[in-house]
Amino acid sequence: MSTAVGVLALQGDVREHLAALEAAGAHAVPVRRRSELEAVDGLVIPGGESTTMSRLLGVFDLYEPLVARLREGLPAYGSCAGMIMLASEILDTRPDARHLDALDVTVRRNAFGRQVDSFETDLDFTGITDRPGADPLHAVFIRAPWIERAGPGVQVLATVPGGPAAGRIVAVREGNVLATSFHPEVTGDLRVHQYFVDMLKEGIC
Ligand code: GLN
Repeated sequence: MSTAVGVLALQGDVREHLAALEAAGAHAVPVRRRSELEAVDGLVIPGGESTTMSRLLGVFDLYEPLVARLREGLPAYGSCAGMIMLASEILDTRPDARHLDALDVTVRRNAFGRQVDSFETDLDFTGITDRPGADPLHAVFIRAPWIERAGPGVQVLATVPGGPAAGRIVAVREGNVLATSFHPEVTGDLRVHQYFVDMLKEGIC
């Protein structure tokens, strides 16, 4: 049986994640309804705009069911706005923005500043680039958040290697919740999606 991975399809770069997951060997399905959420083995929360996504989770009656599934241990991967949604605390957001509280981190939205809306860099990523012969991971940041506090159970997988933001945390994992500040779905490099699909398969068997 192939693993069914949902992509929260309320807003953001849903298609790119669906394609990357399929290429990584998963059965990828868009999730807009509660019944679709109940049917998946894992969920990707894409990049987009976290305050809009927060509002749409309410409009589509998905907020409470999603919080409940995450509490029960649904594996999840959040990219950029998705990382913001999964966090336990968000800095620089709207007071009414809701989040999912599935990852013990404090995230700062738009942390890299207006003058660097978008940038790209090569990263070391624990579990991916530390394999023999592996290339660094090319990471694309678009109005990205960073993690200012990571709780004791959170494993830091990647930090910014140089420049003014050197050392900032941009990828983490806590149990079966994975998050990156950057967008692997736009690079054609499947390794982060593969990491998530492997994570899911390990948890299911
Ligand atoms: N800045 C956006 C937010 O706050 C995230 C950007 C992205 O997902 N590319 O939600």
